[in-house]
Amino acid sequence: MDLLELVKAAKPAVYWTERDGDNSLAPEAQPALTHSTAADLVIIGSGFTGLWAALQAKEEAPGRQVVVLEAETAGFGASTRNGGFCEASLTHGLDNGLSHWPDEIDTLLEMGEQNLEELIETLDRLNIDANVERTGQISFATEPWQVDDLHEYVKTSVDHGEDVVFLDRDAAKAEVNSPTYLAGAWDLDGAAMVDPGLLTWGLRRACVDLGIEFYDGTRVTSIEANPSSLTVRSEHGQIAAQRVVVATNAWAEPEKQIRRYVIPIYDHVLMTEPLSTQQLSSLGWENRQGLADSANQFHYYRLSADNRILWGGYDANYYKGNGIGHQYEAQTDSHTKIAGHFFETFPQLEGLGFSHRWAGPIGTTSKFSAAFGTKHDNRLAWAAGYTGLGVGASRWGARVALDLVDGVQSDRTQLKMVRKRPMPFPPEPIRNVVVQFTRSQIAKADDNKGEQGLWLKLLDSLGVGFDS
Ligand SMILES: Cc1cc2nc3c(=O)[nH]c(=O)nc-3n(C[C@H](O)[C@H](O)[C@H](O)COP(=O)(O)OP(=O)(O)OC[C@H]3O[C@@H](n4cnc5c(N)ncnc54)[C@H](O)[C@@H]3O)c2cc1C
Repeated sequence: MDLLELVKAAKPAVYWTERDGDNSLAPEAQPALTHSTAADLVIIGSGFTGLWAALQAKEEAPGRQVVVLEAETAGFGASTRNGGFCEASLTHGLDNGLSHWPDEIDTLLEMGEQNLEELIETLDRLNIDANVERTGQISFATEPWQVDDLHEYVKTSVDHGEDVVFLDRDAAKAEVNSPTYLAGAWDLDGAAMVDPGLLTWGLRRACVDLGIEFYDGTRVTSIEANPSSLTVRSEHGQIAAQRVVVATNAWAEPEKQIRRYVIPIYDHVLMTEPLSTQQLSSLGWENRQGLADSANQFHYYRLSADNRILWGGYDANYYKGNGIGHQYEAQTDSHTKIAGHFFETFPQLEGLGFSHRWAGPIGTTSKFSAAFGTKHDNRLAWAAGYTGLGVGASRWGARVALDLVDGVQSDRTQLKMVRKRPMPFPPEPIRNVVVQFTRSQIAKADDNKGEQGLWLKLLDSLGVGFDS
């Protein structure tokens, strides 16, 4: 099988927004801002963080005038390009949370679970059908050294009250049939699978219904502080805002502070053609969980509502100067590499084609979880950098940003995770050198039974790292 040909045959487009014949729910783009106006709250960016911030702000205070400015259209960034794993974790997993915030991990777990419950309740209440499936998620060991890690992970999870069970080789294969699986850990209720396109559009529709104003094609170029307001400028218009929430994630703009803490890491995704009944039954997978493998460079995969397999991850590319843009999205090398891994995992699916391929920028911090900041006497707040776990956490991140701009002292704003920023990435050109070297060391550790070299041990001791 020629993998490159197979990959090239896939449409270079995001399945969630360009699936055949099912784009009727996509909102029409709104005209750009071309005049001067005023608002109580301006939100910059209409991905999940911006949409959840707008929705929560307006529901809490219906009289508040909320305006959302988006450089492209709703969900243009990571929010419609992701795997749709909507997890309770706010900290990119329990182990990462424990390593950075051991004193507050149980609070963070509780807040994450509450956030996931409230997120799903909100979708029900607002009639947003995002194909939510509360399947949980299985992490599989595919190398012997990962089996011990999974045992350890299950023990730690259970100690913290999480509903996670260990699956030995037979039990793992009974859930999903791959010759590569040696064991698994099934988090029974910490994750739901969602359709990110439907979620984005549903949130945006709910915001419009509440009277929130949207301006698309409006890239914010500067924010200037005056005594009575903040002037938010785009190329052709401006808004005098009382409060501003910056929700631009991997773009790390227009507030320069964010660029110190957040870098864009490109992650790649393939979507298969729908599976036949026979192909599906060759996998088992009756419980339809979200799946992942357990190396440092990992794949994540899941079924869509129409029984395609979304297969993503592994390669995590950084481009010098916080590089971001369409030119980084058609990396056939990365797509071909992960296509090869797909058929190693599911050899019984040989002959299955891919319908879509895409990539997107993951906003990453050195602690792999969201960072927060304020400026201009707390009249501006930003929330960004959920790394690869922002579908659920962005609702919570948006809530934190609103607390910060509204001066609310909440349980959230007291957290060290919120108050203390992660270590900044060094400026370029050192940033590029450090990130590329760290990437190569992570790949080396995976090839060496997970054994970390000196560089990764040093980063660990400093409480920093690199992930997607
Ligand atoms: C390929 C991929 C797979 C992923 N898989 C998962 C997953 O399965 N589960 C999970 O939990 N997370 C996943 N993530 C991460 C998750 O998608 C993000 O954490 C989340 O969508 C972040 O939402 P956001 O609103 O903060 O950012 P974004 O969705 O990136 O939104 C930022 C918005 O800001 C706009 N913008 C930028 N600059 C400006 C400006 N100057 N003026 C106006 N607007 C501007 C952008 O156009 C964009 O629409 C994945 C990400 C990627 C890329």
